[in-house]
Amino acid sequence: MKTGKEYIDSLRELKTKIYYMGKRVDNMVEHPAIRPHINAAAVTYEMAHDPVHEELLTATSHLTGEKINRFTHTPQNTEDLIKKVKMLRAIGQNTGTCFQRCVGMDALIATNSTTYEIDQQKGTNYHKNFLEYLKMIQSKDLMVAGAMTDPKGDRSLAPSKQADPDLFVHIVERRKDGIIVRGAKTHITGAVNSHEILVMPTMAMGPDDTDYAVSFAIPTDAPGVLFVFGRQTNDTRKEDCQIDQGNVQFGIVGGEALIVFDNAFVPWERVFMCGEHEFAGLLVERFATYHRQNYGGCKTGLADVLIGATFTAAQYQGVDRASHIRDKIVEMVHLTETLYCGSIACSKEGHKLPSGQYFPHPLLANTTKLNVGRFMYEISRLSQDITGGLLATLPSEKDLKHPEIGKYVEKYFKGIADVPTEDRIRIIRLIENMTGGTALVEAMHGAGSPQAQRIMVLRQANLEYKKRLATKIAGIKEPKEGTKNT
Ligand code: SF4
Ligand code: FE
Repeated sequence: MKTGKEYIDSLRELKTKIYYMGKRVDNMVEHPAIRPHINAAAVTYEMAHDPVHEELLTATSHLTGEKINRFTHTPQNTEDLIKKVKMLRAIGQNTGTCFQRCVGMDALIATNSTTYEIDQQKGTNYHKNFLEYLKMIQSKDLMVAGAMTDPKGDRSLAPSKQADPDLFVHIVERRKDGIIVRGAKTHITGAVNSHEILVMPTMAMGPDDTDYAVSFAIPTDAPGVLFVFGRQTNDTRKEDCQIDQGNVQFGIVGGEALIVFDNAFVPWERVFMCGEHEFAGLLVERFATYHRQNYGGCKTGLADVLIGATFTAAQYQGVDRASHIRDKIVEMVHLTETLYCGSIACSKEGHKLPSGQYFPHPLLANTTKLNVGRFMYEISRLSQDITGGLLATLPSEKDLKHPEIGKYVEKYFKGIADVPTEDRIRIIRLIENMTGGTALVEAMHGAGSPQAQRIMVLRQANLEYKKRLATKIAGIKEPKEGTKNT
């Protein structure tokens, strides 16, 4: 297992082609916009070596029997599913932001179980090849970016009906030694600072879209692959200040990027679906459920930090004993623990898939993520309510440190007498970081937009069964087959 430092050093060896703000990034490790995300991902490596967290962050490979980082493990029982959630909460508590590595973990897990089922039904070799790939990832302890979302162009049209055929990743050529792929994946978490990309289709596909039903793995620095790193709220602060960033070490959410595949070559042993369109929807559902399972884990870790920051801000302002403040803090805790309950419950209620791997309860996992998209806004609203307008009006760190006017900032932004003004500003900046634009959008749209969860909830809701419960209790006779009421 790599240490945090070994992970960071391994990134220096990559020749990844990254662009940001119109410029090529030569050294991602030292780049101020990217480094905080690298630091956050490094925590997933570092905590695995910490005796306190080892139990959650490591696992035994079912393939080799070796001790591995849990981010490369596939869940073998419900206990593994529960540990995954607990691990994410623990890391979130230590970073206060997204540590990115779970997307690739879930892509590995979802592809593992789906390739098994494709091979069973089609007699293909995808699973065998995938297991070799997984062993390599486990032994080298690599970070994988899970890449699902395509640009999608006109949402009312299928992939093959788009005006531009590249708006969904697709196979442009099948060769003896592999395939050539073209297209892009959008807002991919942790993409630039991963070693590998695991590509999956973005939705169910029909027979006209066989070239779009493709899954494969490719190194981040392979020829034909490039990244455009996204902007974030207040990202220019990373260039010229420290305190104003709020979380200078770990940044804001996942450092998402656009990944472009411009006629990239993938050898056959790294191809895990190639035209089996009837399995595209299954892979999407698997990945989505595993990733939605997470959100009551990582986000509750972040919420723990935010609750702590908000309570600290209240203390620094002398209002922590006011009953309405305590009530709001209670509400924040209640919402946070409700989210955690959802992630633990869907894990506990998991079941075994044909491959032997365990799968969280999909209705509960989707409900959890739907709640995250709401509750994180409410938790953030309560935090901003308690913290006050300074969140939006504080002068900059440069003014605080200015030789002439610094004394005024110091004097007029002081809260209670024995807390330095700078500490008060620091905690408010952290709250600004955690409740601002980029962070909240991620809570809503990460792991799929709310509508994607609503579709899954409706599909899993078993309304006919619920209807039967009600009609039986109401004394309504079973309607005859084929009548309007069946
Ligand atoms: Fe992991 Fe959460 Fe970030 Fe998704 S949002 S990658 S689950 S930390
Ligand atoms: Fe996310």
